[in-house]
Amino acid sequence: MIFAEIIVDISVKSLDRPFQYIVPEEMAEEAVVGALVRVPFGSGNRTMKGYIIGLSAEPAYDVSKTKSILEIVKQGVIVESHLLSLAYWMKENYGATMNDAIKVVLPVKQEMKEKVKRTIYPCISRQKMTEKGEQFERKHYKAKARVLHQLLKQEERFEEGVDYNQILHDAKTTAAVVRGLEQEGILSVESQRQYRNPVRKQEETEEIPVLNREQQTIVDSITEDYREGIRKTYLIHGVTGSGKTEVYMKVIEQVIAEGQQVIVLIPEIALTFQTVSRFYQRFGDRVSVMHSRLSQGERSDQFLRAKNGEIDIMIGPRSALFTPFQRLGLIVIDEEHETSYQSEMPPKYHAREVAVHRAGMLGASVILGSATPSLESFYRASQGRYQLFTMRERAGGAVLPKVWITDLREELEKKNRSIFGTQLSEMIEDRLGKKEQIILFLNRRGYAGFVSCRKCGEVLNCPHCSVSLTAHMRQGRVSDLECHYCGYQTAMPSVCPSCQSKYIGTFGIGTQKVEEMAAVRFPGARILRMDADTTSGKEGHERILQEFARGKADILIGTQMIVKGHDFPNVTLVGILAADLSLNVGDYRAAERTYQLLAQAAGRAGRGKKPGDVVLQTYQPEHYSIACAANQDYTGFYEQELAMRQMLQYPPVSNILGVLVLSEKETQAEELAGKLADIMKGYEQVCVLGPTKAPLAKARDVYRQIVYGKCQDYRILRRMKNQMEAFMKNQENYPNCRLQFDFNI
Ligand code: ADP
Ligand code: ZN
Ligand code: ZN
Repeated sequence: MIFAEIIVDISVKSLDRPFQYIVPEEMAEEAVVGALVRVPFGSGNRTMKGYIIGLSAEPAYDVSKTKSILEIVKQGVIVESHLLSLAYWMKENYGATMNDAIKVVLPVKQEMKEKVKRTIYPCISRQKMTEKGEQFERKHYKAKARVLHQLLKQEERFEEGVDYNQILHDAKTTAAVVRGLEQEGILSVESQRQYRNPVRKQEETEEIPVLNREQQTIVDSITEDYREGIRKTYLIHGVTGSGKTEVYMKVIEQVIAEGQQVIVLIPEIALTFQTVSRFYQRFGDRVSVMHSRLSQGERSDQFLRAKNGEIDIMIGPRSALFTPFQRLGLIVIDEEHETSYQSEMPPKYHAREVAVHRAGMLGASVILGSATPSLESFYRASQGRYQLFTMRERAGGAVLPKVWITDLREELEKKNRSIFGTQLSEMIEDRLGKKEQIILFLNRRGYAGFVSCRKCGEVLNCPHCSVSLTAHMRQGRVSDLECHYCGYQTAMPSVCPSCQSKYIGTFGIGTQKVEEMAAVRFPGARILRMDADTTSGKEGHERILQEFARGKADILIGTQMIVKGHDFPNVTLVGILAADLSLNVGDYRAAERTYQLLAQAAGRAGRGKKPGDVVLQTYQPEHYSIACAANQDYTGFYEQELAMRQMLQYPPVSNILGVLVLSEKETQAEELAGKLADIMKGYEQVCVLGPTKAPLAKARDVYRQIVYGKCQDYRILRRMKNQMEAFMKNQENYPNCRLQFDFNI
């Protein structure tokens, strides 16, 4: 007998408790995960619709009391069914509970009340507002004055609106005060549940460029396939600024003209006003944007609009992949190499793989684009599984920047201990003189800003996590220490806690230090800094980029955050301060990440009419990922890196499954990891590594052990994972342990 787990109403609550029904024999064939069914429900046996989310051979309750499915509803493409099948595939392929997988693919109904986002729009000019503020001040309407004062601080947001709650908080005031200002006609408050169409903010309309030959060839080729009903995955490898986005848009036009719908994935960090508005300008109101600031309610609103066919294009980060379009024709993934496409929560899926799978289920095409493709995608393209297009030149006549390498070891020999090498210093001065802009990029991947003792070597760690604490600077001094993992905070001790020596401090540099040094070295230069400390959330990040784009600073100092999104036509120099920091992070993707970061950072220079220079400072100029990034030689990098992966049997040539064992009891974690390693060793074709402490050995007081299995055949790893899941279900010895699976991470 077969039993089906059924949810009758897709809400968070119903996921916690699916109901079991008997699958009558004659329905066995059609009873698949995702199928829409009719079942008798409740004491009155009311007929209700539900979805199958799991099948099993074991009854959960007394079989005599279990009801049977009445009917499997024959259907066209019902989007929920499709997404549930996709969830099932994700659960199987990446390891997770079905509940977790469903929560990823469906915007499940929330029990709580939807949050309404309120926005303040000033109704008078800045000048008037300043005068009003002074008036209020004189009349001792202190609260009103404070509101206006806070509003004026956010002047650049007047057009798009200022966050209501923020103002209330910053002005330390109440809704009644704001209402008063509204009645006086000084401002208006709007409640909204949808992302406003940002096109309103922009007056000038962009000209649509005539595609160049490279672009046109790609567009023709893809659209011809499309018209002929051929569906594939394409990889566009195009240098930064080669006009990939123009290509996507032309293909999208065609797909929409055929009545199909499109999902465009963009890394969250690049989901800037600039990028989004290009799509709005081209496609108008039938575009919707998903981003992390939307509430759960707003997100399901967007999805509802998509399902009802009110929009044709959904743009967003990873989560937009699950937009419930009924006629999905194309998925575009821009910057496909970005790590943000990889989910950090179970199911730990990669958006690229899920996109290709989803497209396969529905007969849609996929376009991947990048200046620095992931090894995975380029490998598949070289095997002919994806169709490769290459764009070698920048669009619109811009030329690729010239790259100069500074060997920091030589600088040291010349007694230059500054972070600015001779060449970089000279070039910065030159640009400051010409009133051109400069980006200084600090590669902070793998850099911790930790505090240690120079006498005994003790590194100050978080007591709850096995990571070093990060120093926060204030006025050139370390003010306090924080764990970036759990948020633990403590004051900077004056002596080493282990040996009482006073030689304790930070080593290595952070963006703050760079800023201070730049201010000293280049007096008079206007400097902006962007990192996690200066940007609260994505909005702060965008604000700084916009300021820089408007020419309000000469030098922008930042980390990987500045790598994509904005075009800065006046930037003619990019300095990469310590290119090799990320090479030493001890994970098999370190060289790939380094190459990508450097090539993308270099691509920021010379995006406008003026040519650009890049100065790349490094201690390891001979390392292939640095040498190749300097030459913008992707294929050279790819070949050397692939040879390494081949030698060590890492993805994409092989597959690797990481089994993470989590427990608050260290011995339990170790014991269970040992047991799981034994299970894995039962598979002949699998090479087992470990168990051992995970790189992050403890987080939030939970111990982490890891076992790796490498195997050419993904299916064997998947089978192994299923066996471990079954083992966990049927054992009682490790009640405090949890497992997480990482496929090819
Ligand atoms: P990518 O996505 O590859 O980084 P974009 O599509 O953003 O490149 O294009 C880079 C810049 O070049 C943009 O400002 C774009 O408007 C411009 N551009 C793209 N294609 C052309 C073209 N055929 N002619 C002139 N300018 C173009
Ligand atoms: Zn010490
Ligand atoms: Zn911590």
